[in-house]
Amino acid sequence: MAIQVYNTLTRKMEEFEPLHGNRVNMFVCGVTPYDYTHLGHAKTYIAFDTIAKYLRYRGYSVFYIQNVTDVDDHLINRSKETGESEAELAEKFFKLFIEDMTALGMDSVNLYAYATEHVPEIVEQIEGLIKKGYAYESNGSVYFEVGKFSEFGKLSKQVLEKLRPGARVEVDENKRNPEDFALWKAEKPGEPTWDSPWGKGRPGWHIEDTAIAMAYFGEQYDIHGGATELIFPHHESEVAQAEALTGKKPFVKYWLHTGVLNVKGEKMSKSLNNFWRVQEALEEYEPDVLRFFLVNAHYRSPVDYTDEVLEEAKQGYERLVETVQNVRFALKMQAKDERTSEDDEVDKAVKEVMQKFEESMDNDFNTREAISHLFTFSTKVNAALSKGLTRESLEGVLKAYRTIGDVLGLFKKGIEKEDVVDGLMEFLVEMREKAREEKNFEVSDEIRDRLAKIGILLEDTKDGPRWKKR
Ligand SMILES: [Zn+2]
Repeated sequence: MAIQVYNTLTRKMEEFEPLHGNRVNMFVCGVTPYDYTHLGHAKTYIAFDTIAKYLRYRGYSVFYIQNVTDVDDHLINRSKETGESEAELAEKFFKLFIEDMTALGMDSVNLYAYATEHVPEIVEQIEGLIKKGYAYESNGSVYFEVGKFSEFGKLSKQVLEKLRPGARVEVDENKRNPEDFALWKAEKPGEPTWDSPWGKGRPGWHIEDTAIAMAYFGEQYDIHGGATELIFPHHESEVAQAEALTGKKPFVKYWLHTGVLNVKGEKMSKSLNNFWRVQEALEEYEPDVLRFFLVNAHYRSPVDYTDEVLEEAKQGYERLVETVQNVRFALKMQAKDERTSEDDEVDKAVKEVMQKFEESMDNDFNTREAISHLFTFSTKVNAALSKGLTRESLEGVLKAYRTIGDVLGLFKKGIEKEDVVDGLMEFLVEMREKAREEKNFEVSDEIRDRLAKIGILLEDTKDGPRWKKR
């Protein structure tokens, strides 16, 4: 069965068939690096990171581009406030964005494409649109004449006439019609500028994405992603620019949009000042817990952020990690030699969870459902562990967690071999045992207490002492 995706363009679930066989070209609206990344941004980027990872898991060769809007009003205004140049601000905040997202496990992007490095392509597209009669120059700026593109509104399902009175459009006396949008903005004092056939100026926001995408993907490509609030006017304008220029439809075959992260019913955003920086969240929670919180929802669903749901996510994720650690421990200390019916049961559960994982992910990347299968699987694994399993079955279980974890970006810590730490811990546990045998309780207690201080618990089980991270 092919993957089914929900396409915003058709408002339908569709079978996923890339334009060029196995190759998938994917573009996601990137950041405007003028401030810190918050959890609302992270929700979108982690969703698309997971989607890219799953497509690769299913054998597609994905080329994933994120643009970097390193020239725009936000950056210019911020630069006026702080005295740092736009380029300095963009460099600083882009670096921080990458740090935050890397911590959360985003590693699927092939290319970060800077707007300022694609000005020639942008100028060329604008010239093409003027030549075809879709755009006009006015006092050094260039505008796209929305009324000329009859299909404007087909992505966001808006009717042009309704956009006109009091719509969210920039007031600008240079425009012929209020709904027209800027492709090129004429120079204003103190702003960064580039040369163009219309004099010095800078690119508009929407044209940046079409120019970058076409530079790498050609006139049509497979997936364009972004947050829901970008559908209009940003993505709608992209469709208009690209299809007006090339005449090829659709510009993008599948449009995917992520639901917002809400705080008390309102979107987490800079403007509402209700945001939580990823950096701050990382001080309180393990990166894996934050990632789990974000992927434990379907990407299209809005998520309500509260301290309680994050705490619940933490507990849920810890239950899964504990199972993984139980399996690792059993592999080291308790693997049985003889197969029993428990092994058969667990082998069956492994096959089942892999199949259900794929079914859920094939169904428009339903990570929430996939994770629910993982909980069911973990319950079965824990029950079987108490009766003992062979090495073969234990390795099968671990492989399932690793495979699913790689796609969802989870369990890195629980599964990866921590050889040095394991070795040191084994040594300390042995030293403590030895001290206890010699009735040197001062030393054995000190070892236990010192480990507790750094968050490591020693437990005495029927199979001997074992340790775990709190
Ligand atoms: Zn964009």
